[in-house]
Formats: sequence, structure tokens, C-alpha cells
Amino acid sequence: MIRDPETQTLLEEGVRRFIKEVLIPREEEVAETDQIPADVIAQMKEIGLFGLSLPEEFGGLGVTMEEEVRIAFELGQTSPAFRSLIGTNNGIGAMGIYLDGTDEQKQAYLPRLASGELIGSFALTEPEAGSDAASLRTTAVRDGDHYILNGTKRFITNAPEAGIFTVMARTDTSIKGAGGISAFIVEAGTPGLSLGKIDKKMGQKGAHTCDVIFTDCKVPAANLIGNREGVGFKTAMKVLDKGRLHIAAVAIGAAKRMLGDALEFAMNRKQFGHPISDFQLVQGMLADSKTEIYAAECMVLDAARQRDEGKDVSIQASCAKYFSTEMCGRVADRAVQIHGGSGYVSDYAVERFYRDVRLFRLYEGTSQVQQVIIARGLIRGAAI
Ligand SMILES: Cc1cc2nc3c(=O)[nH]c(=O)nc-3n(C[C@H](O)[C@H](O)[C@H](O)COP(=O)(O)OP(=O)(O)OC[C@H]3O[C@@H](n4cnc5c(N)ncnc54)[C@H](O)[C@@H]3O)c2cc1C
Repeated sequence: MIRDPETQTLLEEGVRRFIKEVLIPREEEVAETDQIPADVIAQMKEIGLFGLSLPEEFGGLGVTMEEEVRIAFELGQTSPAFRSLIGTNNGIGAMGIYLDGTDEQKQAYLPRLASGELIGSFALTEPEAGSDAASLRTTAVRDGDHYILNGTKRFITNAPEAGIFTVMARTDTSIKGAGGISAFIVEAGTPGLSLGKIDKKMGQKGAHTCDVIFTDCKVPAANLIGNREGVGFKTAMKVLDKGRLHIAAVAIGAAKRMLGDALEFAMNRKQFGHPISDFQLVQGMLADSKTEIYAAECMVLDAARQRDEGKDVSIQASCAKYFSTEMCGRVADRAVQIHGGSGYVSDYAVERFYRDVRLFRLYEGTSQVQQVIIARGLIRGAAI
């Protein structure tokens, strides 16, 4: 749903201009230093990127899902590290509080997340609980007006920068699965919370992950999200449903960028006396990429509109994430191929994007997990 087409067009144009004039020229610097420059972060705050999807009453722009994915189509067209920094505040690092938090929790944290003053992280994955997240082992034991958390979370995006963590922990160890899990807001600096070394990743330099370790970490009971035990896994799944549509849209943006780069290269690179774009086998790769991007775009927009209508889009979000991220991997491969040997050296952005986009098929549920969700949904539907 687009609330006001004129405002939306202005927003998309503003983001597009910012990406072209500010972010793309700094991509190399981010890749080399593994840091997003402070002046760029300041500009991202200024134009409201940290609070895109948080409601206006908390200082955000309150975009709808359709509006959000359209902006993500743009954001995907530059290094994913930029999107990753604002991604958790607009998604997994804030949505648990927004969707299921108490009024006090929303008031305490959402305005600072929307402004970018605070970075939010989402801590679900553990060393022994990845795809099978409901088997997580981190415990939270009630002790008067506190909970004591113990356990380790793995690969947590923006953990080194985070001011707060949404942490899924088991409050009822007699229940092995999802029902025993609760969600907590844990502030950075709480005694007993420590961080591991920053992970050395294949790509997405400038975006950081690390372990988050809880050792007798004392968290106020008031920080139990929604003030309810046993519903934390449901909160996490709601957050991920939305996150999957966002990641799908970012993957589409990245595919568009790589196709644009490949097209430009193909029209300029000459072999056999012709631009290689004259050759039908190269044209086939360009055409397949455009076709798949278009299909993914239609799929994501449809799922986003359905979510805006209040429909349950679990299956559609998984279909969209699965198709769009796999499609992005195929486009990355073709873009490198079209660049020939130049695609394998770092002078061209496609070499970097090829590594950066590999992550999209892994996090917020691997492609296989999306397949499982889709198939289970079909089977459940057939059984009714
Ligand atoms: C850079 C990065 C950032 C991340 N950010 C976050 C974050 O902010 N917060 C967070 O909580 N997590 C985060 N993650 C964790 C991420 O979500 C997990 O890595 C992912 O869910 C997969 O879990 P795993 O790595 O344990 O792999 P595993 O679950 O061990 O999977 C290994 C392989 O087995 C397959 N597999 C597993 N189960 C099945 C099944 N039932 N059927 C078929 N195949 C299956 C998988 O698809 C995969 O191919 C991040 C990961 C990375 C790499």
C-alpha cells in the first residue's frame, strides 16, 4: 500500500540520489577499511534511514511494507554494509519491541532506534541452534525482579555497535521447543554481557557480526518483551516474516545493480570487433537476469501489498526470500561471467557484490529453511 504516491516518489528519489552521490563513491573505502565512515552515518541519520519502518509517533517515517520494499530496492543497489547498519533498527533489532513490546518498552527504546542514536541487534542464533532455532539453550531464570541470563549467541549482526539486544532465551527448561522461549531487551553494558571477536566474513565488509555471551547477566524483569513469558519465539517469527520480505527486496536491488554494471561493461567491451553485448550468448545472460529480476520484483510487491492488507504472508514471504535471493546469486554469477577475467579481480564492483550477496541465501533462514516453511504451509493447508 502506498499512502501518498507523491511523498513516496520524493522519498525514493531522495534515497536514490543519496546512494548515487554519497554511498556508491564510498564503497571501496568501506570495503578496504571494514568501517562505514562517521560522516556517512551522520548523513544516514539526518535523512531518517534508521527509522524508516518505525511509526511516526516514535520519530520514524512509518512506511508501509510496500513502501519499505520499494526503498529497499534502492538501498540494495549499493554495498550491503550500508543497508546492514540501518537494517536491524528497521527490522529484526526493533520490530520485536514494536510488535509485542509494552507501551513503556516502546517509549523507552523506539525513538532512539528511529533516530539512530541507538543500534538494535537481534540475538536468536546460537552455536548449536541455527536453522533449528527453537532448540536454543540460552536460559533466563527469574530471580526476584530480575532474570539471570546464561548462554552464547552467534553471528549477531551489528552486535559490536549495538546499544540494545533483543534476546531469545528459555524461561521454561521443561519445555524443549518454542513454547519455553521468551524475548528480552538487554542493554549493552549490562554486567555479564560480553562480546566475542568480530567475525572475519567472506564479504559485506563494513557490516559486523560477533558472538554475544551472557554470563549470569542480570536483566530487569521489566525488560521481558510484552511482559509475557513463553511467547518469545512467536515474536521472533513475526519479526523474521517481515525481515524476509525486506531481505528479498534488498537482493533484488543488488541484482539490479549487478545487471546495470554488467550491461554497461558489455556495451563497452569489444571483442571480435564488436561490443560483447552484440553477441547473442551474452544477450541471453542479460535477458535471463532481467526476466528473473522482474519476476522477483512482482512477487515481493504482491507479498508486501498482502501484508499491508493484514493477511498472513508467512508462505509468501518465504517464497519471496527464497526466489529473490537465489535469483540474486544467479545474477551475480552471470554478471561476473559477462565481465570475463575482469569480473574476478577487484577493480570492478561485481567481484565484491558476488561475495556480498552470498549471505542473502543464508541468514534470516537459509533457502532450505524457506523451502521447509513453504512445504509445511502447503501440507497444513491441505490437511484442513
Ligand atoms: C553474516 C551473518 C549475519 C547474521 N546475523 C544474525 C543476526 O543478526 N541474528 C541472529 O540471530 N542470527 C544471525 N545470523 C545467523 C543465521 O541466521 C544462521 O547462520 C542461519 O539461520 C543458519 O544457521 P546455521 O549457520 O547454524 O546453519 P545450520 O542450521 O547448521 O545449517 C547448515 C545447512 O543445513 C541446512 N539445513 C538445516 N536444517 C535443515 C532442514 N531441516 N532441512 C534441510 N536443510 C537444512 C541449512 O539450510 C544449511 O544448508 C547471521 C549469520 C551470518 C553468517
